[in-house]
Amino acid sequence: LLIGITLLLLVVTTILGYILAGRAILPLNQAFIRQQKFTAYASHELRTPLSVLQLSVDILEEEQHKLSPVHQTVLQDMKEEIERMTRLTGQLLTLARNDSPLQQMRREVFDLQHSLSFAAARMQLIALEKNVKLQFHISYTEEGFTCIGDSEQIDQVLYILLDNAIKYSAEGGTVTMGITRNDNGTANVIIQDTGCGISEEDIPHLFERFYRVDQARTREHGGTGLGLAIAYEIVSRHGGRIAVTSTLHQGSTFTVILPETKRILRQPLK
Ligand code: ADP
Repeated sequence: LLIGITLLLLVVTTILGYILAGRAILPLNQAFIRQQKFTAYASHELRTPLSVLQLSVDILEEEQHKLSPVHQTVLQDMKEEIERMTRLTGQLLTLARNDSPLQQMRREVFDLQHSLSFAAARMQLIALEKNVKLQFHISYTEEGFTCIGDSEQIDQVLYILLDNAIKYSAEGGTVTMGITRNDNGTANVIIQDTGCGISEEDIPHLFERFYRVDQARTREHGGTGLGLAIAYEIVSRHGGRIAVTSTLHQGSTFTVILPETKRILRQPLK
């Protein structure tokens, strides 16, 4: 009888616990959804006034030669701040969309080699401007590195990592990229720079929203502290992770580890 009563009590308290915990989580969940909707709405609405400002600055820029040197500097500062705010609102919108339970992720087959060379080609101009050399560590393989997921989102991850690698490199630096295969069915996309590096204490916080190692330095680079948070979430959604190793004043290596899918075998030519 004693065992029976104890078991009954255990079942009743477990059920009660579930109900109470569910009730406590419900308002939290609703608050989270409200906050996510607000972020999405606010960042979306900010885009129109920002485009108007951008257009006004572009018009002023055409007449720049008529301005005094001080006013020319003010105009340049305005332009940079508008660019930063545009980037920030775009990134906030991406995060809010990613947070949404309604957000659907595309599922398509794509080749990581193609994604990396596409991202590198898009970053070539930025690298040239900063006199940073972009180089591939490995040559192409016929079979490729096939993944399933949203290739546009993976492209975005690679842009963020390449952009950082260039941004935090000194002039004349080198960014090396490559892809390797692991034994456990995953592939590594490696992006290595010879830049300023990250201290050991900062590494665990890198993927937090709005985290920036050196506020002054990153502001100068036009950073928002959201890029790596976005990259982390996209890669997690694809069942992967990002690993970082770094040495201060020597450089950093960011590795995106993604599950590979079964390769599509090509039919031999007859
Ligand atoms: P940000 O827009 O500021 O670059 P991120 O989320 O992309 O934001 O990066 C967060 C911080 O991590 C950056 O502010 C920078 O201090 C540091 N960081 C990121 N990538 C690198 C890198 N390749 N080398 C050195 N520091 C980096």
